[in-house]
Amino acid sequence: MDEIRRQNRASVAFVLKFAEILKYNALSEIFVYNGFEENLFFIFHFNRKANATVFYDSKEAIVMSNVLTHYQFLHAIPEPGFQEFKTSDYLAGKLEEAGFTVTRNLAGSTGLAGEFDSGVPGPVLGIRADMDALTHIINGKKEFRHTCGHDGHSSMLLAAAEAAAAQGLVKKGRLKVLFEPAEELGTGALKMLESGILEDVDYLVGMHVRPTQECHAGGVICEMHYAAGCQFRARIRGRHAHGARPHLGINPIDASLCAIAAVNAVHMDPRIPFSVKCTRFHSDSGVFNSVPEFADITFDMRAQDNPTMKDMREQVIRAIENGVAAVGAKVEEYEFYNGFPAAEGFDPELAKIIRESATEVVGAENIIPSFNTSGGEDFFFYPVRMPGLKVGFIGLGVGAEPGLHHENMHFDPKYLENGVSIHKKIIARILG
Ligand SMILES: [Zn+2]
Ligand SMILES: [Zn+2]
Repeated sequence: MDEIRRQNRASVAFVLKFAEILKYNALSEIFVYNGFEENLFFIFHFNRKANATVFYDSKEAIVMSNVLTHYQFLHAIPEPGFQEFKTSDYLAGKLEEAGFTVTRNLAGSTGLAGEFDSGVPGPVLGIRADMDALTHIINGKKEFRHTCGHDGHSSMLLAAAEAAAAQGLVKKGRLKVLFEPAEELGTGALKMLESGILEDVDYLVGMHVRPTQECHAGGVICEMHYAAGCQFRARIRGRHAHGARPHLGINPIDASLCAIAAVNAVHMDPRIPFSVKCTRFHSDSGVFNSVPEFADITFDMRAQDNPTMKDMREQVIRAIENGVAAVGAKVEEYEFYNGFPAAEGFDPELAKIIRESATEVVGAENIIPSFNTSGGEDFFFYPVRMPGLKVGFIGLGVGAEPGLHHENMHFDPKYLENGVSIHKKIIARILG
């Protein structure tokens, strides 16, 4: 190693200069390693925090992936759903460089897939990452920010794909890396499905960074049980009247209050987590002394499984219709927004592979076998729309605070390396 270090002093100096140009205040380690396909690789790791130390196993050809480089690039170009143009260009270019066959613009969207074919018959393993950022209003101005960590997800999957190709991890079957647009809009997975790109996929794995409230930094949740979510607006039609003659009208505000009270009296089996609440209420005739013609009420519903959501939805609709009927009003229309199905389709064989892979990377003491979250994830459209698809979904503890979707959400990128290693071990186990 010393010999190689000496021989390549000039190159190391270049790396140092590069880090300095990028204004990284701590170049924590430089490794020069010879022996992978007769080529010389520089494995360098720089981070703003000097304590971002990663341990290397000198027996592996490339131990450190490109994840931080990808993350730094993608983090700087946050783009909202279906507008991930620069993001998908970057991912597609890097995948092609790594030897993947790339399909862009899936179903006319910014979604893309990279395929690595071993040439040997075997299973098709799909790994999916999302790409979109959120739109926040900061100081009165619209701003895109990666506050759900999707830049981290894309970086981990890209780095794992590069490593899988370079290190010959795909020995049978095919690896498909799927980069989904617009997860936050709830329609990205549906676009991917529409494109047909998943039709030959046997196993599908997803991964999402978790806030510290759910998983400690450096920990891994092997099976994320996301809840179903559903939001909708109901327009309640009353009858306009002058404020002096309310008996001639039907007050849609009173009707809405009856509906909300009826909805709050809906009870589902308490052993399965659920909630329903009114989240928006708007009614205004334009003047303050008349009974308005209509009111709009919006509800948010959560349920930990899909049958509960289906039952609750029917009961909530019935409660609204009977509630408004109590004062002679009626529901004129419903507008359903994009909901998410609850997690399903977990496969015991894949669960074992995920558990073993994660344990090797972070140690048994950092493993959380499963976790119920009331958050939603459009990933579960895949198993719902493709019965028989074997899925797994991993939660990665990265120290995300104060919480996902918070405008100041931040985490320590050094933990992304854990996600890359887990992806690689899953690939090696299924396609090796
Ligand atoms: Zn999100
Ligand atoms: Zn997310």
